[in-house]
Amino acid sequence: MPWPVVPRHHQPMTAQIISGREIAEEIRAELQERVASLKEESGVTPGLATVLVGEDPASQMYVGMKNKAAAAMGIHSRQITLPADTPHDELLGVVEGLNADPDIHGILVQLPLPDHIDEGAIIEAIAPAKDVDGFHPINVGRLATDSGDFFAPCTPSGVIEMLVRSGHDPSGKHVVVVGRSNIVGRPLASLLMRKAPGGNATVTVAHSRTPDLGAVTREADILIVAMGRPEMITADMVRDGAVVIDVGTNRVDDATRERGYRVCGDVLFDEVKEKAAAISPVPGGVGPMTITMLLANTVDSAARAGARVGAAT
Ligand code: NDP
Repeated sequence: MPWPVVPRHHQPMTAQIISGREIAEEIRAELQERVASLKEESGVTPGLATVLVGEDPASQMYVGMKNKAAAAMGIHSRQITLPADTPHDELLGVVEGLNADPDIHGILVQLPLPDHIDEGAIIEAIAPAKDVDGFHPINVGRLATDSGDFFAPCTPSGVIEMLVRSGHDPSGKHVVVVGRSNIVGRPLASLLMRKAPGGNATVTVAHSRTPDLGAVTREADILIVAMGRPEMITADMVRDGAVVIDVGTNRVDDATRERGYRVCGDVLFDEVKEKAAAISPVPGGVGPMTITMLLANTVDSAARAGARVGAAT
């Protein structure tokens, strides 16, 4: 009896897993080499300063992870911890001191800041050339206009690296981004639109006022989701063979776990992986890329500083 022939488009597909963890390791190995050659060739050791105001446990954890990752790479890291009631002007003074410090190439003020501090004013006080988080309006503007030297925010640039390094260059593709926040969706759309490597995509941005989200997401060759809505993107919202990047990081109650919760993305992974050509998991997807791109921006900043010193001598 002949084997039943299943038409190709009905064959179940299991997606390529785009591991942010592995790609982050690859980039960190490259960075380590760059740090070593920067030291050797121009005597510059990249320096990252992290400023933490208050005792928010999540912020403490993030800052700790950033410093540890920097140190592991040979990047000099300096942590400045200030009490929650630090006056605005005192914080401003700390930032200005770091701006003037030649050993520091990257300044990261951990957000959110306490309510009495004007967050926008602090971000604007950071020298754009040291704003490795990419939130200063000068960096935001240069990214949006695709001009001059700038630092792009870390999560969106991590997404671009994941796509390019896993063989899914966005160039010429229709990319749908769900989410328009200033830290993820909006800068991601700007990066995807650039006339530069990692860009040249046709970009659609959807958000909570998009009436029929599924109709938009089904149009995507590459679907990037940054909504903060646990497992909302289901298989029926994804085109066969699409590439899916899940930025969402959500905690949901789970009585079967000892700690009482699990971490999941905005995409219903088990269902969508049967339809997508490639998909990033949560955890182990975009998460590990964010700190890596912060380190990459710090090394870039040090390299630019080294080049400036070289040019002046
Ligand atoms: P925000 O809450 O700032 O933005 C969410 C965006 O999603 C908004 O633009 C919102 O629309 C849109 N949205 C919300 N609900 C819907 C819906 N039902 N349909 C369509 N669009 C919707 O979140 P962030 O951008 O800061 O973060 C998004 C997710 O990414 C979170 O889960 C966060 O934890 C995660 N994240 C992960 C990082 C990592 O390193 N892995 C780093 C940063 C974020 P509107 O603008 O209309 O309100």
